[in-house]
Amino acid sequence: MKVVLALGSNLGDRFETLQGALDSLFDAPGLDFVAVSPVYETDPVGGPEQGPYLNAVVIAQTTLDPWTLLERAQGEEDAFGRVRTERWGARTLDVDLIMVGDVVSDDPRLTLPHPRAHERAFVLVPWLRVDPDAVLSGRRVADLLTGLDQDYVRLRTDLTLQRPI
Ligand code: AMP
Repeated sequence: MKVVLALGSNLGDRFETLQGALDSLFDAPGLDFVAVSPVYETDPVGGPEQGPYLNAVVIAQTTLDPWTLLERAQGEEDAFGRVRTERWGARTLDVDLIMVGDVVSDDPRLTLPHPRAHERAFVLVPWLRVDPDAVLSGRRVADLLTGLDQDYVRLRTDLTLQRPI
């Protein structure tokens, strides 16, 4: 199955966190790296006053079930010291599952496709960049983006994530 993951960080050394998370996501078996997007800097959407994020999207192939993937994603968040105090607040690392094959789930602990991805330019812009034919819930990501404000999503040409080793 194809998996799309969104990474975000807005505390500490944000770029180092993204690279570290990318490397360790692929450390264990079951997840094969396909591609990583460029890095974007984005102003926070909603939530309390907080600094800008670095965001990137990763595409992988997997034999793992979605719950195991969620565990791995949350394990990364914990490993990078995210403190879950304030909903929508600043975080060292946020890892979201955007889609896992054509799995559909409305469980609040794991909703697939991600319930807010279609309205988040900070997910769709990097995703489209790395996969121009991307489709989310039957809609082309390119089309989803036409209705969204993208001005707050800025390409960081000076930062490039390396494929995990
Ligand atoms: P957030 O603070 O936005 O990262 O939300 C984390 C919570 O969202 C966790 O309790 C997850 O179980 C839940 N969740 C539901 N669907 C997803 C998803 N597709 N990817 C990541 N977390 C999810």
